[in-house]
Amino acid sequence: MADDWRLSKENKQKIVDWVAQKAAKRPLICSVCHTQSWQLGEHLVAPTLYKHGGGLVVGGVNYPQALLICKNCGHTIYLNAVIIGVASDEKEVSEKEKGLLEKGEPASGGKDASGQ
Ligand SMILES: [Zn+2]
Repeated sequence: MADDWRLSKENKQKIVDWVAQKAAKRPLICSVCHTQSWQLGEHLVAPTLYKHGGGLVVGGVNYPQALLICKNCGHTIYLNAVIIGVASDEKEVSEKEKGLLEKGEPASGGKDASGQ
């Protein structure tokens, strides 16, 4: 099965360039093991939102992150993918959601889905 969620070659390069630019003044050293050997994660991730009172929030807004992983100890730095420019802060509407929207049904996972 194809992994359609992998970062494109272009976006991976964009992240590498962005980190090189931002960390240009001094080497990016792992805060855990003090080495400088990093690897970019193949995907973006988005942590789940905290819901007051407990529970897991599925859908809605999220904060896509690129992963910079220390090859020596695994310590991971999360970089906001919207700020880097490899993820949109606009809602991406899937084909399925487009169909539901055209029928007047609320789409899941968007800014309009307030969990009601
Ligand atoms: Zn490390």
